[in-house]
Amino acid sequence: MNPFSKLVEYSGFKSKIHITYNGLIQKDKNIIGRSRRIHEGQRGCGPVVYWMDRDLRFTDNWALLYAQQEALIRQKPLHVLIVIEADQLKNPTLQTRFKIQGIAELLPQSRSLNIRLSIIAGTLSKTVIAYSLAVESHLLVTDFSPLHIKKKALSDIVQEIKCPLVEVDTHNIIPVWIASPKKEYGAYTIRPKIHRLLPDYLTDLPVLKPHPHEPFNCDEIIQRHAFDEFSESLQQYTRDGCGIFLSGPTAAEQQMKSFMRKRLAGYDTLRNNPNEEGQSGLSPYLHFGQLSPQRLAFSVSSAAADKAAKESFLEELIVRRELADNFCFYEENYDTFAGFHPWAQQTLNEHRDDIREYCYTLKQLENAETHEDLWNSCQRDLVNNNKLHGFLRMYWAKKILEWTGSPEEALHTANYLNDKYSIDGCDPNGYNGTAWSIGGVHDRAWAERKIFGKIRYMNERGCRRKFNVDQYIAAHST
Ligand SMILES: Cc1cc2nc3c(=O)[nH]c(=O)nc-3n(C[C@H](O)[C@H](O)[C@H](O)COP(=O)(O)OP(=O)(O)OC[C@H]3O[C@@H](n4cnc5c(N)ncnc54)[C@H](O)[C@@H]3O)c2cc1C
Repeated sequence: MNPFSKLVEYSGFKSKIHITYNGLIQKDKNIIGRSRRIHEGQRGCGPVVYWMDRDLRFTDNWALLYAQQEALIRQKPLHVLIVIEADQLKNPTLQTRFKIQGIAELLPQSRSLNIRLSIIAGTLSKTVIAYSLAVESHLLVTDFSPLHIKKKALSDIVQEIKCPLVEVDTHNIIPVWIASPKKEYGAYTIRPKIHRLLPDYLTDLPVLKPHPHEPFNCDEIIQRHAFDEFSESLQQYTRDGCGIFLSGPTAAEQQMKSFMRKRLAGYDTLRNNPNEEGQSGLSPYLHFGQLSPQRLAFSVSSAAADKAAKESFLEELIVRRELADNFCFYEENYDTFAGFHPWAQQTLNEHRDDIREYCYTLKQLENAETHEDLWNSCQRDLVNNNKLHGFLRMYWAKKILEWTGSPEEALHTANYLNDKYSIDGCDPNGYNGTAWSIGGVHDRAWAERKIFGKIRYMNERGCRRKFNVDQYIAAHST
């Protein structure tokens, strides 16, 4: 019996890792199917290194499973590298504290899994390159993100590293490049493609087992290269806590279970009411990769809850979320006016010179100093609680279009405020959400009106038809 057989077998929905008679491990197609090689190179004699970036968890992580599978086949140690931008540590924002608090939970896990976890402060690409060269990595694996920052880091990394580099999409249930080969027009075009592939991809996930090969002793390398490893001083960044949020994979799992127990059943009826706790509240955990979207989707799809509620939630979690990644992956200009469809650019251009009855500066908007109580309450909610209800996010962004000098300024302002204050900001969902609200992305043309042109309009009266606006204003009056 192969000594690793117990380490790598799992009861996956589709396939298992098979152990052949001569002890070789065959690759699991469920793991391989989520990866793509983005750089050829010579395998080094060091460990398999997983640069963990978007998906900060050890459990239910296809990129880590991929790295372990390779390390098992080649009988190599397994290292995980997390890089925190040094700038972020000087004056850590709530988002940085949330991120670091979650990472702190991974350290004891890494020890029990016999995986070396290096947490290093530095510049993303420079640190990954230096680490990979220093340990002579056998293979470099990373998780997928469609955002500029990751794409730029990867293009720098492939210029310098020696070993192959593999990207694994463990944030989408169906890897973006498999779900669709192009930028999708809307939810209605990507939905059938996703639904067709889901039976193959929405599986249970294998359990990561302790790694059988001892990690490299990196102490000398860390010193020689002056890597700013701060694993032991993580606590100093988490002392201030994360406001109303509890961070980390354990908190994520608790929130998931609590949502499924108490609120999933009413999701389809309550989710659009900002006065109710109708949404899951899981976006911070999904954004920082502390919770696997596939684990969440798999658990919800097999839960004994009302079918309509489950379908409504899975539509948001799978179709809408994966559509946002599709938009950012295929649209280079996902955060600028140029990323809007031609019809939307044309209609906004035609209304560029329309007189704005109200026109606010960024400071006025940031300080919630507009003439409208509902919008000011949304802005205060965002600043004070670092989260805004999904329905109100649309309203909030659309008013920024109405009350700033141009669609470019509106989009920039909305992204700036959302990324600065929202705990789940700097996410494809956010860039997609502002582009949807301000530039009609994934939407259709509506009746033409001032400033908006054919972009869908929203006003306070419409909100009053949906929920008790005064109750919301009263709750966020200061
Ligand atoms: C202007 C604007 C800005 C937004 N900014 C962000 C952001 O910065 N980060 C972020 O994660 N989401 C953003 N969204 C999308 C959505 O509003 C949030 O994902 C949702 O409100 C998060 O709360 P929840 O986890 O309780 O959502 P739930 O309703 O419980 O949904 C569960 C999950 O499904 C996904 N989801 C839900 N609605 C959407 C949607 N419209 N588009 C894509 N995915 C969705 C999210 O991953 C969410 O966590 C934005 C939307 C708009 C209109």
